[in-house]
Amino acid sequence: MRLWLAAMLLYGLIAQGAYAQAPASAQTETGTTLSWTGQKKTFRMPASERANIADNPSWTAPQKPFRIYGNTWSVGPHGLGVFLVTAPTGHVLIDGGVPGEARLIEANIRNLGIHLRDIKWILNSHAHADHAGGIAQLAHDTGAQVIANVADTPLLERGGHDDPEYGDRFPFPPVHVARTVTDGERLHLGNLVLTAHATPGHTRGNTTWTWISCEGTRCLHMVDVGSLSVPGFTLIGNPKYPGVIKDFEHSFAVVAALPCDIPLAPHPGMVNFWARVAKRKQGDVSALIDPMGCRAYAKDARESFKAQLAKQRAEAASAR
Ligand SMILES: [Zn+2]
Repeated sequence: MRLWLAAMLLYGLIAQGAYAQAPASAQTETGTTLSWTGQKKTFRMPASERANIADNPSWTAPQKPFRIYGNTWSVGPHGLGVFLVTAPTGHVLIDGGVPGEARLIEANIRNLGIHLRDIKWILNSHAHADHAGGIAQLAHDTGAQVIANVADTPLLERGGHDDPEYGDRFPFPPVHVARTVTDGERLHLGNLVLTAHATPGHTRGNTTWTWISCEGTRCLHMVDVGSLSVPGFTLIGNPKYPGVIKDFEHSFAVVAALPCDIPLAPHPGMVNFWARVAKRKQGDVSALIDPMGCRAYAKDARESFKAQLAKQRAEAASAR
């Protein structure tokens, strides 16, 4: 209990520290209120969400930014995949961490010598608070346009409220989506091309982003694999998402079939990211390359999904 209290207090301090220049940040008994310069909207974080973030300390744990490969950089906290893809015509940021922690990502980007204002687009993997929570702040501070899958756009714009699985438990500052994309759409920014692969299920607009990064003449397929997990999801008879089972089955097949040299993910553990980074540090220069990584993740995720589905089917049968 004491540990829990300490974690909550620590989180409060971090949240306030992160918003040191935004004086409207305040902690109340039931939630943390965030507001940011130039934006009149305020966001009040409910206790359910503060507890969730406190339960996942890696989501807010600082992590030094570094080059993954070519023009692809890791700029997130230790426990979340936040990626910057750079190009002379402007940069692209993928995902924005949890609410109240955008400054950590911004500091990482600045530490690479990159100007926030040179970020042209912010993409989203899916509209959950641990990946979209900081996007409103990041869009404000960079001036970048937010681009998201058309099927996740309503959830982004209502700040995560009325999520088909989470309801109102994990909201985030609402995101204005400047441009929507659909399955297979390619985004061109100079020579940089990013492709949106719809991998629905975890959310309706869950997206796997792919692009190519080069070092010299060696160009590799980079894949930010969309989450295919079912954490406590209602898969049978969910009136808010009747097609969820079919969508997941589609997405496992899509991810398994992608050309995939360096698998990345919104949650590093999905693709053993840190284990591979550690191997590289020990001298294995190709340790981040794992052409079977996307397929392996899809297979594991499908097995978890099948187990959860079987359990829910058995429960539904015994309740009849
Ligand atoms: Zn999620």
